Amino acid sequence: MQNKLIPVAQPALKGNEKKYVLDCIDTSWISSNGKYIDLFEKAFAKFVNRKYAISCCNGTVAIHLALLAKNIKKGDEIIVPTLTYIATANAVSYCGAKPVLVDCDETWNIDPKKIEANITKKTKGIIVVPLYGYPCDMDPILKLAKKFNLFVIEDAAQAHGAYYKNKIVGSMGDIATFSFFGNKIITTGEGGMVVTNNKKLANTIRLLKGQGMNPKKRFWFNIIGYNYRMTNIEAAIGLAQLENINTFLNQRRNLSKWYEEYLSPLSKYVTFIKPKPWVQHSYWMFSLSLQPKYANKRDSLATYLAKNDIETRPVFYPLHLMPPYKKSKRFFPVSTNIALRSLNLPTYNELSKHDIKYITKTIHAFFSTSLI
Ligand SMILES: *Cc1c(COP(=O)(O)O)cnc(C)c1O
Repeated sequence: MQNKLIPVAQPALKGNEKKYVLDCIDTSWISSNGKYIDLFEKAFAKFVNRKYAISCCNGTVAIHLALLAKNIKKGDEIIVPTLTYIATANAVSYCGAKPVLVDCDETWNIDPKKIEANITKKTKGIIVVPLYGYPCDMDPILKLAKKFNLFVIEDAAQAHGAYYKNKIVGSMGDIATFSFFGNKIITTGEGGMVVTNNKKLANTIRLLKGQGMNPKKRFWFNIIGYNYRMTNIEAAIGLAQLENINTFLNQRRNLSKWYEEYLSPLSKYVTFIKPKPWVQHSYWMFSLSLQPKYANKRDSLATYLAKNDIETRPVFYPLHLMPPYKKSKRFFPVSTNIALRSLNLPTYNELSKHDIKYITKTIHAFFSTSLI
């Protein structure tokens, strides 16, 4: 036992966050106008190597805006991985369209080989989700999209700063979306961003997020839009976070190395993903899987860790197991198997080597005491 709780995630707010937020208050620019919105959008566009970045109030509506800009509506089908956070599919449902679920492969991401069989006349696009920061295998996916004239949205809510080959995640699809929720790689509290290189899409997204107000005629509305705006205070925090993102990413990559080092001797009990040479993982969450033999011990391991002041989370329950998306009766063996025997371990910038030693020692203790 140690006395401090090790949370699963925790934001690091030690840069210019306070200074920029105080500036918003001192100047009274606290709502959805102000210089930080523009500064954050421009800096983020540069970071992901896109021409346009449009801020919004969270990562879920970022996906909704991307789909609306692509005119997705009832009768359309969008391919999404079954192993993802529920927001990916919910955004499709908000448009009245149908998310068509696809199983993942050993990288925990959508299996490119299983996409084609799910394409119908109604399919309009594919949403890929680089899960926990591990980039998707984009080459075959982009090739398929081209062949069937589908758009690709990268739901990169978990993968700021990850790279596929030499391309940053968020720069490969027609549109990419990001979340800045409190536990993400960088945060604004709540917040999101949509990025694209397409000017027309960017203008549509901007129009939709601001109630549809005509940019040339104030208080004139040609369409039904949404209030999906980010505040200047959120953008101020986001700008300060983005200034430090490379440090954050280095810290995450270092702590993952420590996890790998200390977990390797426990390979009889647990495994973890070993990234392919052409990907640069951003490690939103370091995750482990119990070996199949111990799969049914996942929840008792989590309980044991919690008793020892270590918070964990179960890997996402695949969407096909949850009531709103259960209709299809299809079985997705790879996702189901991974989800039920895997856990996310504490992953945040300020986690020390000492903490990781303690966490992995506790995992070892669980297996040595509970299995004999
Ligand atoms: C966090 C997350 C979202 C939603 O972001 P919010 O900002 O919480 O609305 C969407 N998709 C994925 C994959 C996420 O992890």
